[in-house]
Amino acid sequence: MKQLKITISSFTFLSMLSLMACKTNDVTPTATTSTEVPDVYKKVYGASSITSDGTYITIKTTGAPDHKSVYYTSTNSLYENFTGTTFGGNAFKKNPNSISTFNYTFKIPLNPKEAANHAATALGAIGVSLNGVPFYNQYAGPSQPLTNEITSFDQYYGHPQQAGAYHYHVEPLYLTQVKATKSALLGFLLDGFPVYGPQENGADVAESSLDAYHGHTTATIDYPSGIYHYHVTNKDPYINGSGYYGTPGTVSQ
Ligand SMILES: [Zn+2]
Ligand SMILES: [Zn+2]
Repeated sequence: MKQLKITISSFTFLSMLSLMACKTNDVTPTATTSTEVPDVYKKVYGASSITSDGTYITIKTTGAPDHKSVYYTSTNSLYENFTGTTFGGNAFKKNPNSISTFNYTFKIPLNPKEAANHAATALGAIGVSLNGVPFYNQYAGPSQPLTNEITSFDQYYGHPQQAGAYHYHVEPLYLTQVKATKSALLGFLLDGFPVYGPQENGADVAESSLDAYHGHTTATIDYPSGIYHYHVTNKDPYINGSGYYGTPGTVSQ
C-alpha cells in the first residue's frame, strides 16, 4: 500500500513537470517512440494484429470486407445481390472478379511528417481503412481515369480487381453510414496521415479547402492538437490528390 502511494505521488509530480514543459502549445502531435500502440490505430477494427516498433505501426489485414457484397461467391454468407444505386447513378455493371483474402502488411510511420518531395501513389493499395480493406488511388490504370470502373462498385462502393483484391477508390459507404459517420476517421494512407469522411463540423468538405494532396491541417476528434489529414470527397481525386503529403511506408500482400 505504501509503495502504491509513492508511485502515485511520483506520477503526479512527473505529470506536473511534463505539463510545465508543454506550456507552449504547438500544433504537431507530440512525437512518441513508445512501442505501445496509440488508441487511434485501434480504430482499425478489421486488423488481425496491430503492433508498433516505436517508428512504424504495422497493421495486418486480409483485405476482405466485413460487409455484404455481390462480389462474394454466392455460397458465402456475405454474398448479397446488388441493390441500391451506383456511385454516379449509372446502371450497375458487375465485373467478372470475386473477393479473395490476402495477407496484407501495412507499415506506416508512427510520427508522420510532411515529405520534401511528395511521392506519387502507386496503383494498388495506398492505405488501409478501418475494416482492413485497402484504399486505392483515383486511377484504373496508369493515368487512366476511373470512369469505366465506377459502374462496377458494389452498394458500399468497393470492388475486387482481377486477383480478387477488394478495394475502395471512393467513400467507403459501409464505414460512413454503418460503422462510423461521414465526419469520422476512416483509415490511414501509407504515409501515416489519417483519412476522414466527406464532412467536417456538420458540413460537406469543400474541394477548395483541400490542397493538392487532398488534405489540410486542422484539429480532429482523434488529434485535438491538430494534424494533417486527407478527406474523402465525391469528386475526382476522391481520396488522395497528387501524391502523398508525407513519406509513405510500405505494403505487402
Ligand atoms: Zn478498382
Ligand atoms: Zn479536415
